[in-house]
Amino acid sequence: MRQTYDVVVLGSGAAGLTAALAAAVEGARVAVFEKAELLGGTTALSGGTIWIPNNQPAREAGIEDSRERGLEYLASLSNGMILPELAEALVDGGPQLVDFLNEHSEIRLQVVHGYPDYHPEHPGGMPGGGRSIEPALVSFAGLEDWSDRIAGDIRRMLIAETPLGGGTGSVEPELLAEREKAQLEGLGRALIGGLLQACLKHGVQITTNSQGVRLLTEDGVVTGVEIQNPDGVRFVTAGAVILATGGFEYDPDLVRDFLRGPLTRPIGAPTDSGDGLRMAMRIGAQLGNMREAWWSPVVGYPGVRRDGGRNGLLSARERALPGSIMVNRYGRRFANEAANYNALGGAFHRLDESRLDYLNVPAFMVFDQSVVDRFGAFGLAPGGEMPSWVQRAATLDELADAFGIPAAEFRTTVDRFNKNARAGVDPDFARGQSAYDRYPGAGQAEDPGSARATLGPLENAPFYGVEVAISALGTKGGPRTDRDGRVLDVDGDVITGLYAAGNVMASPAGMVYGGAGATLAVAGVWGLYTGRAAVRDFKTPPPVVVDSATH
Ligand SMILES: Cc1cc2nc3c(=O)[nH]c(=O)nc-3n(C[C@H](O)[C@H](O)[C@H](O)COP(=O)(O)OP(=O)(O)OC[C@H]3O[C@@H](n4cnc5c(N)ncnc54)[C@H](O)[C@@H]3O)c2cc1C
Repeated sequence: MRQTYDVVVLGSGAAGLTAALAAAVEGARVAVFEKAELLGGTTALSGGTIWIPNNQPAREAGIEDSRERGLEYLASLSNGMILPELAEALVDGGPQLVDFLNEHSEIRLQVVHGYPDYHPEHPGGMPGGGRSIEPALVSFAGLEDWSDRIAGDIRRMLIAETPLGGGTGSVEPELLAEREKAQLEGLGRALIGGLLQACLKHGVQITTNSQGVRLLTEDGVVTGVEIQNPDGVRFVTAGAVILATGGFEYDPDLVRDFLRGPLTRPIGAPTDSGDGLRMAMRIGAQLGNMREAWWSPVVGYPGVRRDGGRNGLLSARERALPGSIMVNRYGRRFANEAANYNALGGAFHRLDESRLDYLNVPAFMVFDQSVVDRFGAFGLAPGGEMPSWVQRAATLDELADAFGIPAAEFRTTVDRFNKNARAGVDPDFARGQSAYDRYPGAGQAEDPGSARATLGPLENAPFYGVEVAISALGTKGGPRTDRDGRVLDVDGDVITGLYAAGNVMASPAGMVYGGAGATLAVAGVWGLYTGRAAVRDFKTPPPVVVDSATH
């Protein structure tokens, strides 16, 4: 039996649900098919922060920014990898996304005050923050049974209330009780919850356990998709198919063949395994940005999540606190530990030309008792007992032995770091020079503007350590698109009827991670663009450009 829709969306993360909502608002009959049992993909696991230059909430808060500054900033970081027309589309689309969510959903975005851009000293960067915005708490009361069908854990908290966003990480019990009663949630689940409610209200049909496996085409035009579900295969006809299937980080073959270096422990939704990429490749899509991912070091710990993924923490804050460093298996520091996670990916991918060896994979984060006492770590309050999966040792030598790294070299590394940290400098890796480096420790620093906000000696036993893997929040290569997310073929012509949004597409951000929320910005903006374009094109199909020299 064939089912027919105007628009079919594959995937229910931020990209997919935004696309579905945008198309439904335009009056289209829309269906979302989600491969996993739970909705929300990596988005539901995320912090829900969205990075938008020149956004309205910042302007209302008196923070100055502009479209031009946003573009200047992205251009300064591009390394030739960002297509200028897509950078413009990203910067122009952000404020449109804010308006769209305001108008058609319960999601209200607000500034995470003080969260600096990730390269804030670059031209157009914002050291004082303003571009990272997050959803205010969203009520799940109207979602009824759907609430349990969203991935991730319930967090009745804002990013701004977590240590990462400048808060304490705890909410007063009375306030928490009020939030519980009103079924208020924050972070990534809030984004998914808010989008889902709006989609349901606009009549979008949502089906889980349904994997898009193959695009249906007629004369090169995409006319639908084959869906695999537990009962078998069904064919769904559609005027437009929007791929919003996330990245390919869980497919080891694609990871090996395309990425620029190792990705050893994926951390997002385990169903993000390149299905959309393969579907697009099969019908001749042009690929772009394939080597890139939203890189991040990750600390794994035992156990699995509700969605079946292995537990892990980004640990961006812990690495940057005074009294904490990272070393490689030779016992040497190898990077500015406080740099942003995406940029740090490059340090993990450094290849030793003589050994032909990734020197820094795996690495180890080591810290002393002062970090635990002053700041807490891995979600625990200051002074808390470190979990059993964190290695604990009475001496630095003992810690080195536990990880099999040369103790003498490790001691030399720590001695040098300590001597420099006491002087408030890091001549080896310039840690502390950027406002971003100083941000996690600034709240408790005597002088938040000094490098001492991130530099401090490791001298108070016991010492602690964990292994650090190189991971990514998602890959960011895939089918190339035009500004509106229409997928292009190998000759640069539009594949009529096919669109891509979010991590499945060749990312408009190239190798850049502009600031907290940059990946959800791409997902949201291209969700909006593709949903709108799909409906527009279905009514008026775009002209197919035929170049006689190449066809
Ligand atoms: C711990 C953590 C915190 C993060 N915090 C932030 C943050 O605060 N801000 C930010 O910008 N980014 C953050 N990220 C990254 C961000 O969550 C992702 O980059 C983003 O959610 C990707 O959105 P998406 O819609 O493209 O993909 P996803 O949200 O992963 O959605 C893709 C969906 O497609 C489904 N799917 C896959 N194949 C098929 C198929 N064949 N058919 C049907 N469905 C399919 C998947 O099951 C999945 O549900 C974080 C990531 C992690 C892991």
